[in-house]
Amino acid sequence: MCRGQTAQKSKRAKPYLDAENAEKMGEHLRSDYRDAVDFGGETGLRPGELCGLHANYVDRERGWMWVREVLVARRRVIRSFPKDEDVRAVPLTPKAIEILDRQLKGRNLTHGCGLEHTDGTECASALVFLSKRGRPMRPDGVGACVRLASKKAEVPAVSLYATRRGFATRAAEGGLDVFALADVMGHGDIRQSREYVQQTPTVRARVIAALGQAPPLTVIHGAAGASLGADRDQQPPSETGIEANENAC
Ligand SMILES: [Zn+2]
Repeated sequence: MCRGQTAQKSKRAKPYLDAENAEKMGEHLRSDYRDAVDFGGETGLRPGELCGLHANYVDRERGWMWVREVLVARRRVIRSFPKDEDVRAVPLTPKAIEILDRQLKGRNLTHGCGLEHTDGTECASALVFLSKRGRPMRPDGVGACVRLASKKAEVPAVSLYATRRGFATRAAEGGLDVFALADVMGHGDIRQSREYVQQTPTVRARVIAALGQAPPLTVIHGAAGASLGADRDQQPPSETGIEANENAC
């Protein structure tokens, strides 16, 4: 019975970035992108949520943030979640707070982000993550560099989304229950969260042990050739307010 590469073709086998590979890959990333990617791995934000995170939704003292908006890079706008019930609170780990402090230090945070908000509100807060040139990051730009960095680090190539899955896998492996995981991840369907909880190495080892066999020494995960998003080449040229597509890694 084979496992590994063939299993990755199945609907449920999704590549994720674990802490070890994230560390190796991070060494080949620009420092601004590395912070964003690491923050994604600490919070499970979707790429658009990460790039659209406003500083005023971060409650550093309580250690929580609200996720209620997303950057739509193609349109260069910030879109609020249409339904209040989609808004979620995400706890901040010490590492996430460390990254926030580094990103926000010394900046004027009451300036608007400079992008149009599709709900018509006037923005009065800076974005947490900006490129070195002070522009909003593009999820596809960060993703392209993540892919390149994972190649350089000789770890399985992953998309930016894999940081979110890495977060979910780590939380599930650490014992977070499926309901709490769904809340933090913003899963509309609990079945999405169950996939992570059901497929942890611990569960696998427990099943194998129950079958009277020795647990595996290593777990194969990640996948080469993960999608970066099919529309990457169809992005209109960037104008003001958002970083350029050709931004170097
Ligand atoms: Zn804004």
